[in-house]
Amino acid sequence: MQIIDKIYLDGAFVEPHGTEWFDLFNPATEQVTGRVRLADAVDAARAVEAARRAFTTFSRSSRHDRLDMLQRMHRALAAREADLTEAIVEEYGAPASRAQWMARHASDVLLDAASVLQDYPFTRRAGSAEVIMQPLGVAGLITPWNNDAGFIAGKLAAALAAGCTAVIKPSEMSAMQTRIVTEALHAAELPAGVFNIVTGRGETVGAAIATHPDVAKLSFTGSTAVGKSILRGAAETLKRTTLELGGKSPVLVLDDANLEEAVPLALQAGFMNSGQACIAGTRILVPAAALRAFEAHVVKAIAEIRAGDPRDAATSIGPMVSQKQWDRVQRYIRIGLEEGARLIAGGVGRPEGIDAGWFVRPTVFSDVTNDMTIAREEIFGPVLSIIAYHDIDDAIRIANDTAYGLQAYVLSSNIARAHDVALQIEAGRVLVNTLRHEPAAPFGGFKQSGIGREYGTFGLEAFMEPKSLLGVA
Ligand code: NAD
Repeated sequence: MQIIDKIYLDGAFVEPHGTEWFDLFNPATEQVTGRVRLADAVDAARAVEAARRAFTTFSRSSRHDRLDMLQRMHRALAAREADLTEAIVEEYGAPASRAQWMARHASDVLLDAASVLQDYPFTRRAGSAEVIMQPLGVAGLITPWNNDAGFIAGKLAAALAAGCTAVIKPSEMSAMQTRIVTEALHAAELPAGVFNIVTGRGETVGAAIATHPDVAKLSFTGSTAVGKSILRGAAETLKRTTLELGGKSPVLVLDDANLEEAVPLALQAGFMNSGQACIAGTRILVPAAALRAFEAHVVKAIAEIRAGDPRDAATSIGPMVSQKQWDRVQRYIRIGLEEGARLIAGGVGRPEGIDAGWFVRPTVFSDVTNDMTIAREEIFGPVLSIIAYHDIDDAIRIANDTAYGLQAYVLSSNIARAHDVALQIEAGRVLVNTLRHEPAAPFGGFKQSGIGREYGTFGLEAFMEPKSLLGVA
């Protein structure tokens, strides 16, 4: 049983003012494996105060110093990769290969930010003016449970590269992963107060950060509902706000796609991170004429997809993170059935042979129409909808008929055609025949998938404000 009873304030591990204890579960066994003592609003205020004090000096640090810090943070986090991988499997239930990727990604994002910072022009000219990109101030970074270490490291890297100091509020469900990240970042020996980590509840610690007058910038990743409440709270002091929210991403299978390749890719896009991914491709749009053939390929491919023990190398879908998430996914499967969608794989309940753990059956519905609940709402589990379309204009219309716009996938054997389709999709990223990530490119959503961008130069600039000087040259 792990007991986590400290938060990280002003360069030190300290006892929180908050006194609530929160249980941590292994989702593969439903057993309590740890307890975390949560921070409260007083701790949040102390963290903001520490970050505010540190900002005065840190905002004037040189590019060289910040690059050096990012390198040290990278080395320190990379040194804990094995521990982090283990915690991701234990606390989150990610299949081992996915957990390994997630742990590596957390240290990689620090180098990605360093490479952007390396050549970034903080000063430039606009007509007769000198334009200086200036750090915003204290940044509040609020992250979800579905990629704890990666989100903490990625947001912190961009904030520090810009010259901001930070208060981080990770998900209370990820305290074991957060502990490892915090210990690693502490070992990187940054100046006290530059970053502070307060694990606590969203409605107390998160809300305190999101409304604190000394927080200039918010970067939030999480659900669209909470994102909207954060934006409302931030309005009072006009905080600059980046929101990375939910998605209901379309996978457009064009009529020239090779189904042998398209089906496995579509299933991987849908089931990534056990379906608990904002970018999961959950609406698969298939030409009506190819529907039966596509379904047959899906049924065959899904028989090879294993949901179960995340430590088993053959597993590609782990458990849902919590009982609440399991219940939610079950509810959506029932709604799909009630609304007349046709189940071609999976269904309610646990996979065969599993009687404990928050495992769900990899589920695919066909004959889904885009107005059904399962096609409109983010389920956040391995439940996919196949929607038939008549022609390419119909496909694009259906793809864009959603409140979200985070990511889309186009599968085709004709790149020029896929490119043309990609240009017509309302989404922050469109992936053609690939699931690759590009850290230099902006990431973020259209419509209710968010505001602003992370990664690359766009992500760095989200922590800065331009200032124009006239008459100085
Ligand atoms: P969530 O919105 O419930 O929580 C996210 C974070 O916000 C947590 O740290 C939570 O404690 C905090 N929070 C909750 N209420 C708050 C409040 N009133 N004020 C301030 N903070 C508050 O999301 P989740 O369930 O942890 O994560 C899943 C969601 O995140 C999904 O909707 C998913 O699509 C989204 N997500 C988006 C991206 C992206 O990059 N666009 C990436 C991953 C996850």
